[in-house]
Amino acid sequence: MPLYEYQCKNCNESFEKIVRFSEAEQLPPCPNCGSTDTRKKISAAAALGGSSSGSTGGGCGSGGGFT
Ligand SMILES: [Zn+2]
Repeated sequence: MPLYEYQCKNCNESFEKIVRFSEAEQLPPCPNCGSTDTRKKISAAAALGGSSSGSTGGGCGSGGGFT
């Protein structure tokens, strides 16, 4: 599950929350002041998590003799 970082626009509090995909579109309330006026920030954890386990196996994309 992705970890998202949010920032409250009311008190400027930043907080992180792990959300399911079904909840990804919902903005969680601020844990500090309870305001729902929050915005999603780009998660640093998601950016770091990339594809470091690169397995360079067979390349399927070579050739391509189809018309
Ligand atoms: Zn707040």
